[in-house]
Amino acid sequence: RLSLCPEHFIEFIEKRFKKTIHKVKALREVNKVVVAVSGGKDSVTLLHLMHKVSKELGFKIIGLTIDLGIGEYSIKSVNKAIKNYEMLGTSYEIVDLKKEYGFSIDDIARYRKRAGIRKPICSVCGTIKRYIMNKLALDIGADAIVTGHNLDDIVYYIFSTLYTGRIKDLAKISIYTPSKYKLVAKVKPLAYISEKETLLYVLLRRLPFNYGVCPYAKLRTFHEQIRKTSNMLEEKIPGLKITYAKMFLEKINPIIYSHYVREEKLKECKVCGMPTTSEICGFCKLRSAMGKVLKND
Ligand code: SF4
Ligand code: ZN
Repeated sequence: RLSLCPEHFIEFIEKRFKKTIHKVKALREVNKVVVAVSGGKDSVTLLHLMHKVSKELGFKIIGLTIDLGIGEYSIKSVNKAIKNYEMLGTSYEIVDLKKEYGFSIDDIARYRKRAGIRKPICSVCGTIKRYIMNKLALDIGADAIVTGHNLDDIVYYIFSTLYTGRIKDLAKISIYTPSKYKLVAKVKPLAYISEKETLLYVLLRRLPFNYGVCPYAKLRTFHEQIRKTSNMLEEKIPGLKITYAKMFLEKINPIIYSHYVREEKLKECKVCGMPTTSEICGFCKLRSAMGKVLKND
């Protein structure tokens, strides 16, 4: 409900970000943190805020950008991410999915059915991103990975897991996921900052970002409906999203987590050595299925 001038809006966002960072006690003891940067408004905001905080708390940040191979969208996204890294003088890694692993998200969209992949494109994309982020963080000995999931993402996760009754997934929604076995800790420091606010932040600070939308985003119709509905509710009840997310993350989640989340036994994937609950990890299965289809094409 606040009306702020540009200068104080920027200050307000930075304060809220720091407050969330300070809530994650584990971030006070880290040396190296991977910042996932797609080049869009959320991750660009994240990079600049993490850069500031890293100087204050005395840890090193390394940017990670994955070139997913989604036509023009990926080209623009990677370029914008690099511009921001150079602006800040941050070290970074670009992982090209096609060059490194032989397939792109566009290949998945084209050959998914032939490869016997039943999951939707965005769900496959999520598996790929999580795998690459964790692999890089392990390779360079990072203590945590921070991602640009914002308030609207959190509200969507809570709503969709409740809607479909996925209680275990609901219980796992949190700002901080501690590390275990070969899984590096994950943090979502933008959890209390909305996408409208990240957009304003990058515009007011004149930061370069890709304002384009991924062409596969339009396939997520349920996601879009929830987004529109929660924005409508927010207009009628200002502050609804942040209250909803805060109440869930800070009051409800700790209770249901202890009831519904059991430690899964992780082991090394027989192909790549990364952590998995089965013999071969999801990423290696995907890679093998895509490899066969692309070889026969
Ligand atoms: Fe990946 Fe879907 Fe996001 Fe596109 S919209 S980048 S396919 S998760
Ligand atoms: Zn594997």
